[in-house]
Amino acid sequence: MSAVRVRFAPSPTGYLHIGAARTALFNWLYARQTGGKFLLRVEDTDAQRSTDESTRSIIEGLEWLGLADYDEEIVFQSRNADKHREAALRLVNEGKAYRDFTPKEERGDGNVKQEIAERARKGAGEGADHRSNPFRDLPLEESEARAGAGEPYAVRLKVAREGRSRFEDVVYGAQERDYSEIEDLVLLRSGELAPLYNLSVVVDDIEMRITHVLRGQDHLTNTHKQALIYEALGAPIPRFAHLPLILAPNKAKLSKRKHGEVVSLTTYRDRGFVAAAFRNYLALLGWAPPDDQEMLSLAEMVEKFSLEGIHRSNAVFNFSESDARQWTDQKALWMNSEYIRTMPLAELLPLVRPELEAAGLWKPEYAEGAGAAWLEKTVELIRQRFYTLKDFSGQGRAYFADDFEYDEAAVAKNLKKEPRLKELLPALAERIERAEPFDAETCEQALRALADEAGVKAGLLINAARTALTGQAVGPSMFDIFAVVGRDRSAERLRAAAALV
Ligand code: GLU
Repeated sequence: MSAVRVRFAPSPTGYLHIGAARTALFNWLYARQTGGKFLLRVEDTDAQRSTDESTRSIIEGLEWLGLADYDEEIVFQSRNADKHREAALRLVNEGKAYRDFTPKEERGDGNVKQEIAERARKGAGEGADHRSNPFRDLPLEESEARAGAGEPYAVRLKVAREGRSRFEDVVYGAQERDYSEIEDLVLLRSGELAPLYNLSVVVDDIEMRITHVLRGQDHLTNTHKQALIYEALGAPIPRFAHLPLILAPNKAKLSKRKHGEVVSLTTYRDRGFVAAAFRNYLALLGWAPPDDQEMLSLAEMVEKFSLEGIHRSNAVFNFSESDARQWTDQKALWMNSEYIRTMPLAELLPLVRPELEAAGLWKPEYAEGAGAAWLEKTVELIRQRFYTLKDFSGQGRAYFADDFEYDEAAVAKNLKKEPRLKELLPALAERIERAEPFDAETCEQALRALADEAGVKAGLLINAARTALTGQAVGPSMFDIFAVVGRDRSAERLRAAAALV
């Protein structure tokens, strides 16, 4: 078999949809696994809807996911329009396509049923169907003469009257469609002879020697038409593997228009996802390795990926538009938290830094020496409970700045319920100031000793101290918090919190 060549072919008419990002990933995985080539083709033929901004955001999205190592120059489809036109006109010369001179006002819109009705209305006669286009069998000389005289025309593929189109889809199996269900599809639009989508895709895929087409299942209908174009052009058809759709919780197609930013890949970058985590999550939307392993490094994905492992059933993206905590799929958030919790610190720190910088929390001293050591210790401690990188500057703010907010529920639960804390917190501050050497262990001894002497449970002081030092009700071990927040800041915050009791 010839070497695998696959392509990702987005239309730059908006941001990168997560479904498209998944398509890119599957193509990339397949290329990397087989030692084949991964190509990018920007399908910018719709001049009205395509924008440079969208192209940029798609490329940025691929870069973020680590999929931007295309093996050849990026192909911009609009630059190939002449080739697409030539191919269509060649088919006209070979009698496999024809010029349709139907005046604009009488043209159907490519809808088979409408075309049949239209032709019947015009009295094309008994048994008229959408193949009864009067120009279908116009002699070539006449067709050329009329075109030469400047009469506008569209070019249509001459689909056989009888038979079935067939192709084998790697995921969905044998696909058949009766020719009677396929219109004589337009290849070049009347007037400016702009090549239409199905023609451009096929001509480019042939030119780029694409061996496997992996794309969304919503393209299955197009594939039947494209198979006919391959055949007419005398080119072998590639292997098709259509991917299941990604659906919204109500099983509607997940769309940018209806569901907004949750569908856009860059949202995940901007809301604190680790690229590797989101990539891992995307890989499992419609595919699973044979052993069902969920946390997969890129190397493991490449090793385990197979077209046969792609599911037929659509994947559901579970999120709730009315609940901010469930703004995206819970599994995506879980996966991200797992990465944040377990990834090598050396890989996490470079992601935390821009987060702190953007929030104005970064200090130059974190770059080296004792400051860097403190940062590592702190990140290691607090990452255990975080879901996104945003949490480092949000819930984690108190570790990096003194002007943090207290969670109201935490204050009510841990500070306001016990009036004795008004005296106990300053007393704890004093003990903490005297802890020597200042570390988690000596802080623990100091706190427990005070609890014993005062006749209260250690838990009371632990919870109160946690809220005093971090503003939160939950977090890492309290004694470790003392150690990273430091002697003076800890004491200060304990005293300040007494005022909240
Ligand atoms: N440009 C098409 C799209 O964005 C994809 C075409 C293809 O993969 O063949 O849906």
